[in-house]
Amino acid sequence: DLLVVGSANADLVIGVERRPAAGETVLGGDLAVHPGGKGANQAVAAARLGARTALLARVGDDAHGRLLLDSLRAAGADTVGVLVGGAPTGVALITVDPGGDNSIVVSPGANAHLMPADISAAVSLFLASRVVSAQLEIPLETVVEVVRNLAEGSRFVLNPSPPRPLPSEVLAACDPLIVNEHEARVILGDSCVSEEPADWARLLLAKGPRSVVVTLGAEGALVCDSSGVTRVPSVRVDAVDTTGAGDAFTAALAWKLGSGSGLAEAAAYAARVGAAAVTKRGAQESYPTAAEVDAL
Ligand code: ADP
Repeated sequence: DLLVVGSANADLVIGVERRPAAGETVLGGDLAVHPGGKGANQAVAAARLGARTALLARVGDDAHGRLLLDSLRAAGADTVGVLVGGAPTGVALITVDPGGDNSIVVSPGANAHLMPADISAAVSLFLASRVVSAQLEIPLETVVEVVRNLAEGSRFVLNPSPPRPLPSEVLAACDPLIVNEHEARVILGDSCVSEEPADWARLLLAKGPRSVVVTLGAEGALVCDSSGVTRVPSVRVDAVDTTGAGDAFTAALAWKLGSGSGLAEAAAYAARVGAAAVTKRGAQESYPTAAEVDAL
């Protein structure tokens, strides 16, 4: 089984002609409310593919929390680990201009209250999981506790987003660490001495993870472990909306690894899932079933 530990947000989206300046009010289009957050996205993506998936997260006792729980259940994800209360559900306030550019304010809300004690209290979820996947929209000390609670023989997958420097204890547990270009640059910091993604993969591997995956959007991905760097091709599709593609990629990769696939094979499947996800609008609404991936 796959356990995702991470964030759950309501994405509140309004189209605007232009953004308001300080002190100004502008009128926008109709409000759209979408279930989001990297943790919930990953859990929905994996469950849609047919993976037995649980989410360990925290939402508020409010309408946004219920929206997220409904979306998870509709996809077939296990929500016993979704804790309720402590703060309002996390929200992303998003304005989109006619050029398609976003301005986003995130209120972490309940995500900031997913504490290390919530992780150590979820022993049974960890024992039932071959693969545990996390991101960084929850407190870093909570991610550290995730690494400490991994069951014997289970595998840890991390997408360090939003990126920040990581303690060596977390880096050493990653198998793989999954980054896009921006995340690679931030994690490498001063040691980002090359413009070549294959070099980033090797430099990141030298920081301690057992394996590294660098995603390259329409260019697919690179996988890197002690045996070297392998290129994983992408699938050519008409991209409509890339929101949540990285979350779908990570979820699919984690699931395939848990089913016994090798890293390159799992990444090739994940690239197909990511490609399918960019052919539809939205994040969770765009995630494919296994049959849709096979038909691609
Ligand atoms: P993120 O969303 O985290 O920035 P990427 O943009 O690298 O991550 O996308 C993650 C994966 O989704 C890619 O590795 C690729 O497999 C797939 N993908 C993203 N954009 C496209 C695209 N335009 N065409 C085909 N596949 C894509």
